[in-house]
Amino acid sequence: MDSGSVDLHTHSRCSDGELEPAELVDRAAESGIELLALTDHDSVAGISAAAAQARSRSIRFVPGVEISASWRAQTLHVLGLWIDPAAAALTELLAAQRERRRARVAAMCAKLARAGLPGDALHARVCAHDGVPTRTHLALALVEAGHVRTAEDAFRKYLGQGKRAHVPADWPPLAQAVAAVHAAGGRAVLAHPARYRLSGGGRRALLADFTAARGDALEVVAGGNGVQFAEACAAWARQFGLAGSVGSDYHGPRQTWNPLGRSLKLPDGVVPVWRDAPGRWERI
Ligand code: AMP
Ligand code: MN
Ligand code: MN
Ligand code: MN
Repeated sequence: MDSGSVDLHTHSRCSDGELEPAELVDRAAESGIELLALTDHDSVAGISAAAAQARSRSIRFVPGVEISASWRAQTLHVLGLWIDPAAAALTELLAAQRERRRARVAAMCAKLARAGLPGDALHARVCAHDGVPTRTHLALALVEAGHVRTAEDAFRKYLGQGKRAHVPADWPPLAQAVAAVHAAGGRAVLAHPARYRLSGGGRRALLADFTAARGDALEVVAGGNGVQFAEACAAWARQFGLAGSVGSDYHGPRQTWNPLGRSLKLPDGVVPVWRDAPGRWERI
């Protein structure tokens, strides 16, 4: 299968995406995507609805998740693909993530209140969303209440790392996220590996640790990243004996610059993470 018709990294309203899971599948079908994963942040709530819609649209569907993890004081994202969303080891980890996220949003709202903003009202607005709360929801609450013009401004001014309302999160270690994905029968993919702020040596150490934790693949083609990143990621995948994945990191039509199924090709010499996964697609 040509990787142009593959998208293994997308979000729905169950985390910080704009579309309902079924709407996302409809869009994917209309964009000509043949193999689609739903990978909400720390949530598997959208998988059954997306899987049902994928069956009716004849799209092959991959149940997935994007787990926030920590490595050397950095936040990293680990995608779990072909997971069993009901696996106890995974649902336990995700329940803990939800609690961490709730506490973090409350702490960020308290910081916003100390900065003179209506922390309680912002908190209520974020809590009105029934999926996992993320900084995106708080950014949009700040936009809707007129405190900033755009979500990007909210990150720049308040919510980005080191900004006045930022609260670091106590995510589980990288190896624990990989282990939870494997316990759920999935493959663990290090998401957007070129996006982390690391020195060359730091990146090599990360890739070595991910490989030692038995991580399966790198997201070689990632949404928003250009071809030069894909080539660098492909070289790392070959060097560390990891497979390669392709994903847009789609969050919805508002991000006009990042459509579903960016048709960047997986570079030669990288084994597609989906190559030997037949049959597992229909599991849900
Ligand atoms: P969280 O996992 O709660 O820390 O939220 C992270 C999410 O916020 C990411 O998955 C992005 O969707 C979004 N995000 C992070 N940085 C920015 C930014 N500068 N502008 C807009 N959205 C951002
Ligand atoms: Mn997001
Ligand atoms: Mn991510
Ligand atoms: Mn993502």
